[in-house]
Amino acid sequence: AKEAGRNNVCCYSSDLHHHAQEQASLALALRHALQREELEVYYQPKVELKTGRVTGVEALLRWHHPELGQVSPERFIPIAEDNGLILPISDWVLETGLQQLRDWDEMGLPALNIAVNLSARQFSDPNLARNVVSKLRQYEIDAHRLELELTESMVVQDPAHAISVMRSIQESGARLALDDFGTGFSSLGQLRHYPIDTLKIDRTFVQELAEDKQDQAISRAIIAMGKTLGLTVVAEGVENEVQVTFLKQHHCDQIQGYHISRPVPQGRFIAWYRQQLTK
Ligand code: C2E
Ligand code: CA
Ligand code: CA
Ligand code: CA
Repeated sequence: AKEAGRNNVCCYSSDLHHHAQEQASLALALRHALQREELEVYYQPKVELKTGRVTGVEALLRWHHPELGQVSPERFIPIAEDNGLILPISDWVLETGLQQLRDWDEMGLPALNIAVNLSARQFSDPNLARNVVSKLRQYEIDAHRLELELTESMVVQDPAHAISVMRSIQESGARLALDDFGTGFSSLGQLRHYPIDTLKIDRTFVQELAEDKQDQAISRAIIAMGKTLGLTVVAEGVENEVQVTFLKQHHCDQIQGYHISRPVPQGRFIAWYRQQLTK
């Protein structure tokens, strides 16, 4: 019920029935998506503002539905959360990402880090940290090269428990990022209690950086607070040079967004990365 309004799909009661039917058929199709190889991981680079260096990628899940075409993760992740499929799917994303990192290493490319999104279900799974550690071992990836992205909503419900889960992940050596920061209910002040390494400024603040004085002030405050706490600050959803200039001026560490690259399949990412390396 908590997530019911998330997609904003149904505005009229006549749509409600149709919407429920659609959800049910998507849920059914999703059950087969993994074994039918309809899922794919796309990669979106993160770039260090000071140097222009590519530091790593974020893994973003894609579903190529045989009839519907691309289904947005905004639509199918909540369904997978509800029916529990999110756990095997998330495992698959993590494994695919770690395997990809190994393949890129073996191609002799400068080492990249990978960020993977955590779902609420995973976050409340008591085996999370153990699972992450065993996958890192299995794929022989140094823990610090993996960053797990979580959102404030996963933390605010039970902060004390969340913090202990976060600590257990950090003890494994993996890093933690707070995603979509600024959209949740935690204040800047609460940040200092969270054991995190990275703060990602939500793209809604970045979007109107050029024209919106309030968004400028919020972004400045988030960057300043993040830096004060010793965190790496990443701006997501960067689409133009004006945003880049602003973020550089205010010492944001890294950017991610269409201005650099859209999320793309691994082959296209590597072609792009090689080109960056020759610049
Ligand atoms: P997110 O983690 O906040 O991911 C960033 C979203 O912003 C991605 O949408 C990305 O394609 C999009 N984006 C990146 N740069 C720009 C830009 O410059 N402009 C605009 N307008 N958008 C940009 P995407 O891939 O559709 O994913 C949506 C959400 O679905 C993600 O938001 C994340 O919450 C969730 N998600 C995606 N993959 C996974 C996954 O493997 N596991 C889990 N649990 N959630 C995932
Ligand atoms: Ca993310
Ligand atoms: Ca985000
Ligand atoms: Ca605004």
